This record gives sequence, C-alpha cells and structure tokens, in this order.
Amino acid sequence: MQQDIQVTIVGSSNVDITALMARLPGPGETVLADSYQLSPGGKGANQALAAQLAGAATEFIGAVGQDSHSEVALGQLDEEGVKLDRVARTIEPTGVAIIQVDSGAENSIAVVSGANSTVTGEAVKAAGAIEGILVLQGEIPASGIKAAMDAATDRIVLNLAPVIELERDYLLKANPLVVNEHEAALILAQLDGSESISTEAEPVIAQKLMDHGLASLVITLGANGCLVAEQGSEIQQLPAVKVKAVDTTGAGDAFTGAVAARLAQGEDLAEAAVFAGRFAALTVQAHGAQASYPRSLENL
Ligand code: ADP
Repeated sequence: MQQDIQVTIVGSSNVDITALMARLPGPGETVLADSYQLSPGGKGANQALAAQLAGAATEFIGAVGQDSHSEVALGQLDEEGVKLDRVARTIEPTGVAIIQVDSGAENSIAVVSGANSTVTGEAVKAAGAIEGILVLQGEIPASGIKAAMDAATDRIVLNLAPVIELERDYLLKANPLVVNEHEAALILAQLDGSESISTEAEPVIAQKLMDHGLASLVITLGANGCLVAEQGSEIQQLPAVKVKAVDTTGAGDAFTGAVAARLAQGEDLAEAAVFAGRFAALTVQAHGAQASYPRSLENL
C-alpha cells in the first residue's frame, strides 16, 4: 500500500552537464576539457530527494522532456521512492545546466529551463490536489508557484531561489520563507518596493521581513548556520555543525527539503532547522549535489 504523501515539491528538475578544464574559454575561444559528467540537479528535484531521505513520503511535481536526460534528471528520485506520477513529459527538452569549471574551481554556468518553463499555473492546476506540506522554489514560472499555493491545504515552505517577482499576498503565504542572506535582502527590497538592496546585518533584515507579516522565516548563513524567526518569538541564531566542507553545491536544497520533512513529522520550526543543519552539514563533506545527500540517517 502506498503511504500518504507528507511533502509535495512543485519545482524544477535539471541535468547538470559539468565539464572540467584547466581554464575557462573566453568569447569565441575553444578549449579542450579534461572530462565531463552528467548529474541530476534542479532545486525542486534536489529538495524532493532531501525530503524523502529525511524521512517524509514525498511527491515531486514538475516536467521533463521526452529525451534521455530525463532519466538522469529523475533517476535518484525514482530509486529512493519519490512519487513521480505527476511529472509531465513535454515536447520541451529536459532542463539542463551547462557548467564549466576550471582548475581553481571558478565556474561559468548557462541554464536552459526547457521543460521547467512549462510548469505554469495552468499545468499545476491541471495536476490537481496538493498533499501535505508544499515546497516551492523560484525555478518555475511565477504562475506555477501561485497555482500550487492556491491548491495547498497545509503549510507552505517557500525557498524563493532565485528570487523572482511574486505579489506580496503570495510571498506572505510562506511559512516558513527559507532563503540565504542575499535572497533575504532582495525579497526585503521587493516587499519594501525599494530599488536599493539592504546591506544591514542579517538579524535586522530578518526582523524587517517579519515586520511585513511573514508567519515564519529561516535565513541560512552557510558555515554560520541559520536564523529562525517566528511571529511572537525572539529571532534565534542556530550555529552550523563544524565540518570540513569540500563542496557546498546543493546544501541549501538539502536544508530546505529536510526542514519540510521534519515539519511534516510534527517538529516545530527550530527543531526542524536543527535537524536540517545536521543533514546539510553531511552533504557539504562530499562532492556533488544529490550524490552528497545521506542515504541513511544513522549519523544524524
Ligand atoms: P545556499 O547554498 O542556498 O546559499 P547556505 O550556503 O546558506 O545555502 O547553506 C545552507 C545550510 O547548509 C546552512 O544553513 C548550514 O546549515 C549548511 N551548511 C552550508 N555550508 C556549511 C558548512 N561549510 N559547514 C556546515 N554547514 C554548512
């Protein structure tokens, strides 16, 4: 018997095509790369894998193409038992991120949204009911984000990365909004209707975001942990676990997925964020995004 879905992610899935080379090519130049690899990515898919591995029965709703990249994009999710019945197969190709990395770890990235651009309001509405906690990011059209929010019946975790325009009423449906410090400043500017981006300290930005009426907020701060804010309580700073980081790709997604999973299991936001910090700290100690996510919770 299939378990009831506890977390639904509506979002992006990509294939990352990463080529390693001594130096990045300039305009009009060709360089020979040493190697390349294909790996699954996209914030939606990463977060879906994290939520499932963090113990929640998870569904991913999105879109991939009718091409061989779709197998790479969804492979890990399928293997770990994420429900994929409502992933559309579109004429548009599977989204790809074309990533060039040089020997100093400097990179340049081009993202082709492809099928992810078809996750519109109409498509999400047609997909039907959303079960459990809803998790959203900024890599699908705003209309898709809003339609998913309209269909949600439980709390909404909004990781608005990248930051895209969203009306105030929709931004304020987030509970929590989960963003890093740069995204927090951009969203504050959006809510303030301001052209300038605040350079104030993170707790000040957190307070100002809460003053706009958000129910709750997490600002992630990399190796400095995160800030957790909820209406009616003091803002808390939670430290990160001290580890030797080798690759932080996908750490934010691991954190967001894990937060949603623990909220779905009845933890409060601070408890969920402590767990998510431990989960994300494991992922930064291994290379890759989805490849670095812990397959067992034994060490947590
Ligand atoms: P993003 O990649 O979205 O900017 P962050 O870098 O803030 O996200 O990372 C998200 C979370 O992952 C952090 O709040 C922290 O819990 C964990 N994390 C990230 N980098 C490290 C690190 N170097 N050491 C320990 N934990 C980390």
